[in-house]
Amino acid sequence: MIVLGIETSCDECAVAILDGDSFVARIVASQVKDHQVYGGVAPEVASRLHIEQISTTVDQAFKQANLLPKDIDLVAYTNRPGLMGSLLVGATFAKNFAWALKKPFVAVNHLLAHILVARYVHKNLQFPFLGIVASGGHTTLMLIRGYKEDDVQILGATMDDAIGECYDKVAKAYGLNYPGGPEVDHLAKQGASKAFNFPQPKLNRRFAGQYDLSYSGLKNAVINQRHQFRREGFDDSLVNIMAGFQYAAIEQLIRTIDRAAHDFKINQVVIGGGVAANSYLRQCMKEKSHLNFFDLPLSLCGDNGEMIAYYGKELYFAQDKQGDSLTVGVMPRVNLFRYQRV
Ligand code: ATP
Ligand code: MG
Ligand code: FE
Repeated sequence: MIVLGIETSCDECAVAILDGDSFVARIVASQVKDHQVYGGVAPEVASRLHIEQISTTVDQAFKQANLLPKDIDLVAYTNRPGLMGSLLVGATFAKNFAWALKKPFVAVNHLLAHILVARYVHKNLQFPFLGIVASGGHTTLMLIRGYKEDDVQILGATMDDAIGECYDKVAKAYGLNYPGGPEVDHLAKQGASKAFNFPQPKLNRRFAGQYDLSYSGLKNAVINQRHQFRREGFDDSLVNIMAGFQYAAIEQLIRTIDRAAHDFKINQVVIGGGVAANSYLRQCMKEKSHLNFFDLPLSLCGDNGEMIAYYGKELYFAQDKQGDSLTVGVMPRVNLFRYQRV
């Protein structure tokens, strides 16, 4: 079976082709450079660039795979969540492409794709497992029992900023480039994490769920430190501030994962999304944690077409080979409360 995967939910126009169990094409047309002048993703710019990129990126993928459009058996594409305009470009293209070829298509949840691609990488990963999306838009803990949304239980999520967004905003305040994650990670490695003691949130569990998180307080504390940093001019401490920030950001995530894993007696953990590429997070999960961590290669952490192709294929089979209909729309947000929460 040959599956075309299309991802356009944010600022990456990513396409992959899965042939049997192998990826025969993988292309990521990143828009990062075009958004850097804005210090973040400009939605209108993103959708316009997707319009320019989508056909050529798909063409390139077929060339790379040495296949023709008629060879594919299924089209999978992201239809939720993401930027409305960006999603619409990928969805419209994918549905038209499949319809013209008389092939089935499936609309895919980007967040579940970020996590479930781990089943492609690790054939020994069994349901149920703990899945965490740590990305630019989400910080969400889920209990994953299968491929369908009904098999997923949301355990907790950030009540304010996403962890990746927090990295990006901190980086921006300190004059670093967008996206901030990789730069902050790089600087943090050179600093002493204990030099700055940034706060951990104390969530009132009467209002917050047991496994909810919060990143806006940390973000503000680190940005406020910047003003002090300017006033007192201790420039050489940039790496220490970043190390202190990274420690606080990742510790909160790891402690929440540990607690959920303990309470639900689940040992297998997958972390997906751009922040899953973070070196400190990976090191902690591999070396310090007693949990069984199924890591993703760096190429599958950020947005990519492979996760959409693979997850789309599995979903198609889980839905008894029921493709979606042309009337399926796009959803900028997925309502977490639709899922059962604890
Ligand atoms: P979502 O998946 O929630 O829709 P998104 O698709 O925009 O959001 P991704 O592309 O999965 O998010 O991840 C991008 C985020 O990952 C950015 O915020 C970026 O700063 C962050 N990131 C990338 N590399 C690292 C790293 N090494 N350490 C920390 N954060 C990182
Ligand atoms: Mg992105
Ligand atoms: Fe993503």
